[in-house]
Amino acid sequence: TRQAETHGFQTEVKQLLHLMIHSLYSNKEIFLRELVSNASDAADKLRFKALSDGSLLADDGELWVRVSADKDAGTITISDNGIGMTREEVMTNLGTIAKSGTADFFSQLSGDQAKDSRLIGQFGVGFYSAFIVADSVTVRTRAAGTSADEGVEWTSRGEGEFDIAVIQKAKRGTDIILHVREDANEFLDEWRLKSIITKYSDHLSIPVQMPKRDDDDKHTGWDSVNSGQALWTRDKSEITDDEYKEFYKTVAHDFDEPLLWSHNKVEGTSEYTSLLYIPKRAPWDLWNRDQQHGIKLYVKRVFIMDDAKQLMPTYLRFVRGLMDSADLPLNVSREILQDNKITRSMRNGSTKKILSMLSKLAKDEPDTYQEFWNTFGTVLKEGPAEDSANQEKIASLLRFASTHEDQREARVSLDAYLERMSEKQDKIYYIVADSYEAARDNPALEIFRQKGIEVLLLSERIDEWLMSHMSEYKEKPFQSVTRGDLDLGELDDAETKQKHEAAEKSFKPQLERFEKALGDQIKTVRVTHRLTQSPACIVTDDNDMSTQMAKLMEAAGQ
Ligand code: ADP
Ligand code: MG
Repeated sequence: TRQAETHGFQTEVKQLLHLMIHSLYSNKEIFLRELVSNASDAADKLRFKALSDGSLLADDGELWVRVSADKDAGTITISDNGIGMTREEVMTNLGTIAKSGTADFFSQLSGDQAKDSRLIGQFGVGFYSAFIVADSVTVRTRAAGTSADEGVEWTSRGEGEFDIAVIQKAKRGTDIILHVREDANEFLDEWRLKSIITKYSDHLSIPVQMPKRDDDDKHTGWDSVNSGQALWTRDKSEITDDEYKEFYKTVAHDFDEPLLWSHNKVEGTSEYTSLLYIPKRAPWDLWNRDQQHGIKLYVKRVFIMDDAKQLMPTYLRFVRGLMDSADLPLNVSREILQDNKITRSMRNGSTKKILSMLSKLAKDEPDTYQEFWNTFGTVLKEGPAEDSANQEKIASLLRFASTHEDQREARVSLDAYLERMSEKQDKIYYIVADSYEAARDNPALEIFRQKGIEVLLLSERIDEWLMSHMSEYKEKPFQSVTRGDLDLGELDDAETKQKHEAAEKSFKPQLERFEKALGDQIKTVRVTHRLTQSPACIVTDDNDMSTQMAKLMEAAGQ
């Protein structure tokens, strides 16, 4: 070992270390995620470099990460046989912060601990997070392609400086030895380490190994503790349906198989992979809009969080699966996800994906789509209000009962309605009522039935809300049949129109008597031509609340 040299950290590193130790104490375990992730990156880099220089792998082509603890010594060691670092690389990587936006980050620090810890999350803590649990860190590394006497040892107490020395190192790769702080002793337990690895790093493609121990706690070899290659990183064509189905069960905690799935690698403004599933059955808390969403977020195959609500709109809350971003920082927090260009683009892309996947299902397998609709249709009906940008696409997925089939099950799509519409009809007629029967038997439908005009029959609680957010579909406006002056316009012929006008004149005296008798309870009384069987019906003004909405408001105590 040559004489060690002492160097000072770059000012920003000192600031970062101080900040980290003081703001991340409640989330100590992330150090392992960061260090294992670095080891995995080192393997990725070596693999990539070996593509053009096969000799780099030498006779050591099985890449791994090994994590072990030594209670007596009070150390945790994270080792890899990845790319390693030269002395120069150690100097820059572990002595400075060479990230773009560093100056900007430090200028935003306020001294307010809560605010700063959020910022630091956004920035990414990386290697320096070792000092959250260690009061001293030793790094022993040797770059791939260099000789055994070109090893480098870096040590630091995380205060102002680090020592660097040239050492003998028999094998390529990096060992990181953490001398664990008193208050972080819990991490000297290998079971605890193992549970952190399975929590955050299960899907890393590299095997993460821990010591195999016999009954006397003697180290006898290495066992992989993660499941190995991340399914979603594999080529679609190499993954069987059974593998997708099995993966669904773990990711969605469902015993059943999924209805369908979609696996996408997206490149462009943002780079990510998504693996999204639509379940067969509804979860027990589907109706709770605050229920946990089923999308897991990964960054570069490292698990970041469950239920990333920002990645999927509420009306698609039945979707399960994951998204893996190549662009987000590893330490991304929920606050950051909330207002983030990368997240937004992942959310928009995935929303489109789900909607088009459903459209395709509706077209190719109408019976299966019907099953989906019967299970999740009511949730999808929240869509037009929540997501106006995709309103037409969502509308095309809606299914209704209608006078065409007179069946309770909602099976009619708006496209089927448009197709059956006569050339003269320019509106999509619908009625909202308390029950299917009340809709079906409403006297307002009489004239429509007589003229053979189809009317959509809506009777779910959410329908009034839905229709108040949809004004038209494919340029045909929606028209409630219980609202205002019903002008069937072009659909009436000249002779009928004349008849109507004559009748209106002859009923004038009766109308005045009705208005007098009902007084304030009504706005007006008029002659209608929409009834063929019933003598009278109640309607609302175009601009007024519908009777359904009035009932809803009343029920809500308004
Ligand atoms: P990031 O991983 O975001 O680049 P880190 O602070 O985690 O930032 O790591 C800083 C740099 O140190 C890495 O970019 C890498 O070059 C180097 N490094 C850290 N750990 C290892 C390792 N185990 N093997 C090789 N290089 C490493
Ligand atoms: Mg890192």
